[in-house]
Amino acid sequence: MTRTIRETTVKTTCPYCGVGCGVLATTAADGTVSVQGDPDHPANFGRLCSKGSALAETIDLDGRLLHPEINGKRVSWDVATRTVAQRFASIIQEHGPDAIAFYVSGQILTEDYYIANKLMKGFIGSANIDTNSRLCMASSVAGHKRAFGTDTVPGCYEDLEEADLVLLVGSNLAWCHPVLFQRLMTEKERRPDLMIVAIDPRRTMTARSADMHLALEPGTDVALFNGLLDWLSNTGRLDSTFIAEHTNGCLEALETARATGFLGAAEATGLSERKLTAFFGLFAETQKVVTVFSQGVNQSSSGTDKVNAIINCHLATGRIGKPGMGPMSVTGQPNAMGGREVGGLANQLACHMDIENPMHRELVQGFWASPTIPERQGLKAVDMFQAVADGSIKAIWIMATNPVDSMPDADGVRAALDGCPFVVVSDVMRDTDTCAVADVLLPAAGWGEKDGTVTNSGRHVSRQRNFLPLPGEARADWRIIRDVAHAMGFADAFDYAGPADIAREYAALSKLGNKGARDFDIGACAALDTAAYDALEPFQWPWTAGEAPVTERRFFADGQFYTRDGRARMIATEPRAPASGVDTDHPFVLNTGRVRDHWHTMTRTAKSQRLSQHIAEPFAEIHPDDARALGIETASLVEVASRYGRTILRAQVTDDQRPGSLFVPIHWTGQHASMGRIDALVHPNADPVSGQPESKFTPVSLTPFGARWFGFAVTAEKPQAVNTDYWALAKSAGGWRLELADARDLEDADGFARAILGLSGREDAEMLAYHDQSAGRHRFAAFRHGKLIGALFIAPEPVAVSRGWAAGYLRETDVSAPDRLKLLAGRPGADRPDPGAIVCACYSVGINQIVAAIETGAAASVEEIGTALKAGTNCGSCRSELKRIVDNARLPEAV
Ligand code: SF4
Repeated sequence: MTRTIRETTVKTTCPYCGVGCGVLATTAADGTVSVQGDPDHPANFGRLCSKGSALAETIDLDGRLLHPEINGKRVSWDVATRTVAQRFASIIQEHGPDAIAFYVSGQILTEDYYIANKLMKGFIGSANIDTNSRLCMASSVAGHKRAFGTDTVPGCYEDLEEADLVLLVGSNLAWCHPVLFQRLMTEKERRPDLMIVAIDPRRTMTARSADMHLALEPGTDVALFNGLLDWLSNTGRLDSTFIAEHTNGCLEALETARATGFLGAAEATGLSERKLTAFFGLFAETQKVVTVFSQGVNQSSSGTDKVNAIINCHLATGRIGKPGMGPMSVTGQPNAMGGREVGGLANQLACHMDIENPMHRELVQGFWASPTIPERQGLKAVDMFQAVADGSIKAIWIMATNPVDSMPDADGVRAALDGCPFVVVSDVMRDTDTCAVADVLLPAAGWGEKDGTVTNSGRHVSRQRNFLPLPGEARADWRIIRDVAHAMGFADAFDYAGPADIAREYAALSKLGNKGARDFDIGACAALDTAAYDALEPFQWPWTAGEAPVTERRFFADGQFYTRDGRARMIATEPRAPASGVDTDHPFVLNTGRVRDHWHTMTRTAKSQRLSQHIAEPFAEIHPDDARALGIETASLVEVASRYGRTILRAQVTDDQRPGSLFVPIHWTGQHASMGRIDALVHPNADPVSGQPESKFTPVSLTPFGARWFGFAVTAEKPQAVNTDYWALAKSAGGWRLELADARDLEDADGFARAILGLSGREDAEMLAYHDQSAGRHRFAAFRHGKLIGALFIAPEPVAVSRGWAAGYLRETDVSAPDRLKLLAGRPGADRPDPGAIVCACYSVGINQIVAAIETGAAASVEEIGTALKAGTNCGSCRSELKRIVDNARLPEAV
């Protein structure tokens, strides 16, 4: 399917991480789209990371869901909408409103989020609406509310540039929030005295760029910050005036911190006393401190306490809300903050109001003129899917998210949805693992097609604008929700012609009865006409009616908080062990997280061959001591298993990892690997306050996978129906690359090659083959009209052929006879050197090229690599990896 494109440059916002960068999307006369960073956007000032830079490569229509379906059959929108409305209505009538649930997403826009929340809470009458942001930052929300009486990030991105000390706690900012990291590193280059401390069990790319890395034992952040608070108290560094005038709970918090103390912190974290002294001293002596934290803090069964232990140290020193000072939670998703503002979590109402506050309920219900409003919280994500499993939820609508891959106990979630009487999924893609268990599929608009607003981690509200026509019968999420609301009989309350109508209503609610009682107030937007909404420039909330918008505003510097008495609450936080400890059957700790160039479950980033080059298959990072003890070598395969599931992954042996811990990325799904769905292993333990799952600590076993053979293939067309124990598929230049392995002998290598290379029915294909039966080595290369159809390499050990080099032949129109033989031999010639694994995705620069430039003296620094090879000179996302390569090359000189 093609689409007609209009020629324009449109200002919009990146749909990936919570930095929320502004993007200029330009459509050329031939319909091709290119993107650049928006130089005027206050989040990025023109920068984009590798993912943002590759956005134009992800907007094709391959795999899109383009028509409504019921039970796999195409239906009209009218039938789909009526079916959803009627089934919801009949279930409500028979079982009550709590038998319905919505599971929504930080990918949808604020306007979509607002009316989904309004429909569920105000008209269906249940609070069973929760969001995948529960998996990302619910502990920050709960920690903020406990401390400040409101869910508010006090500071701004500029604080990272104004601070003298930046702590990055449980945050691989270099890979997960790359543009914010680049802003920090640019300031560090300008001002080398700016100190950066990374607090993370793993030596991440962020930790490698820091002045100090505290590789603490997993899950011991509360002990660390309790130890710090006690140190600050003992060394006379507390701000007693701020504490006395603006906080409650300090004595209890200090007493609890004292019980941990310096020695307790050292013992729990495993950090040396020397290192702790250096860190505590640095914090004590530096006034301008910002503490950035994200999933490493939040995704824990004591995540809320971790957040409060951090905030305690800032409150106790009065370092909050002033330039260069304060705690700063950064969200994972583009609109996680928007979701928090509209009440997208099961325990909230819209506009920072509380479901359990009768005055708030009355105000919201009156404003909505709704027939009902729930008086108690709904089910949080983990409990929601357990209620689906036990049958108390009988219908669920999943919007723009993929819980069959991303929820903990993901196989249990799949089984629950499989058994659920009625599952509706609205999504952009047709064949996700979640779509596979849906009764009704509703095609939603994707990035570039939808229109509305998002809020980033720094409270900037920005427009996401459409510049592409809607493909097929896809519709904006707000419209899908509105039409279901109409079909359920709520037409008057959902009388919206477009997102601007919704935005005005939402803004009006934010100012209703507010008068400074709630910090979230965007009342000025209530007066925007549609043209003004369309032209809206990024602003930072609050933006109250009658005031000018700002892009840099902080909260709490005046010591006024949103608690009943206006004082912040310091919370006594006792260190707690993770909910499930390791045991003899599961002696390793599984930590899950993101990689640089992929996003969530890869429905978009896997479309870009550039992004797929950086890391092309799921892996487990393993410490060398553990690998040695278990006989695991780098590039072999390992089996990782928990009480909930098992997986097969490529081993990466590295001392960046702690002994006893494994790191595995979250991104791989059933579409990209045979057994890469890591959340199938993650246990569903959650923080008792926030309900956020403990995705950073699952006890697992680790064993070598007994592969009888390994394979690697490049193919021009997507391979079909691969049936091996292990496979992982990624896009490459000119086609696909496929990794293979199996625990069974390969009986018929030729037949297998024909199936993988897709040769059946292609009698005009020429096949070159090499066999060494006794050694178990086979190689195949198939051509048609001089072009490579595909090549397959099979060996008893991991195949050592250069991936990028072999894939490069797919782009050639006529592969010469000598090159065919080189390909069959699996060895690059001097005329076509192997670039090695890609480090710089923007310019496709591989590690071999970078090492060669260093070894030949052409480059000795990151800047010189940029001059010689261009690597790191566009988005800058690879600069930390370049630094690691330069540092490693310098090591032998230093010895
Ligand atoms: Fe997008 Fe990268 Fe900016 Fe995040 S840092 S919003 S992924 S461009």
